[in-house]
Amino acid sequence: MSMQAVRYIGPKQNFELRAVAIPAPGRGQVRVRIAACGVCRTELHLRDGLLDLGRRDFTVGHEIAGTIEAVGEAVAPECVGQRVVVYYYEGCGACRYCRDGDEQLCPAPVSQPGFTTDGGYAEYIVVRARNCVPLPAQIPLTQAAPLGCAGSTAVHAGKKARLVPGEWAVVHGFGGVGMAVLQYAAACGARTLAIGLGAERMQVARDLGATAVIDAAETPDVAAAVTAITGEGADAVFDLVGTAACMRISAAMLRRRGRLVLIGYTADEFSIHPVELIVREIAVLGSVGSTLGDLYDAVDLVARGLMTPFIDRTMKLADFAAALEAVEQQTLTGRIVLTPG
Ligand SMILES: [Zn+2]
Ligand SMILES: [Zn+2]
Repeated sequence: MSMQAVRYIGPKQNFELRAVAIPAPGRGQVRVRIAACGVCRTELHLRDGLLDLGRRDFTVGHEIAGTIEAVGEAVAPECVGQRVVVYYYEGCGACRYCRDGDEQLCPAPVSQPGFTTDGGYAEYIVVRARNCVPLPAQIPLTQAAPLGCAGSTAVHAGKKARLVPGEWAVVHGFGGVGMAVLQYAAACGARTLAIGLGAERMQVARDLGATAVIDAAETPDVAAAVTAITGEGADAVFDLVGTAACMRISAAMLRRRGRLVLIGYTADEFSIHPVELIVREIAVLGSVGSTLGDLYDAVDLVARGLMTPFIDRTMKLADFAAALEAVEQQTLTGRIVLTPG
């Protein structure tokens, strides 16, 4: 039996839709019938060669939601029929990071669906049973898919920033992850300021309850605008853009002892004179992916109405190239979700 899957061939090559074998679950694994897979900017980074983890010829996609339809040895058969969102790291389980639940930092992961092993731009995926996070009935599978990366990444980055109620959290770059970060920061009691491009996206930020918004397309000095709104500057800035210019502006809009959390990246380097960090005691933090616990938290936040995944549109798996093109245009007001079949 075969299925359609979108394959990563190698850096600087377009993905290809191919027929591959439907995988069978091994010991401790389940097979998930995929209902939806979100399209993340990371897929562009893989295609363009900006992210290359050394593996070739695997199925891309890591925002996966579906239904468990078969189990391997040592997995309770009662899981069949369970609706789940998939956690996309499977650490070695033995290193110091895995022991602390930080599988996203494991130096020798067993698998990383969509990055080094088969992911979710397909009809089925086989994953470790504990990577499947059960979904409450009120969360539809298309809504759940973006939690797998955008939602859980936002929770992880938000925890990194250690937000305190009343602080100003700036979301610099208002795409799929930015929308989730904004909602997480608001749930923490922070005041939120969204910086993005275009009236349509900024309206989404307002609809999500942003305390303030700045349309970067119409603001010559974004850092000054942030200072004008926040008083001294932001307590935390989440940089989701990652261009040299944006990261500089992100650092400039912080108050003393502010925290800069880097999440997005491009081919650019981040350059800053150390005195800017030293005399203002600025902390620069990197945040990658999430823990399994962060994904559970993201699902819980959605279930309680504190976070809403925004879906711009649903497209067919076969139309993945057009979906990536749309992500590249940066005009979406939410995630694109691919549905197989
Ligand atoms: Zn490990
Ligand atoms: Zn992602």
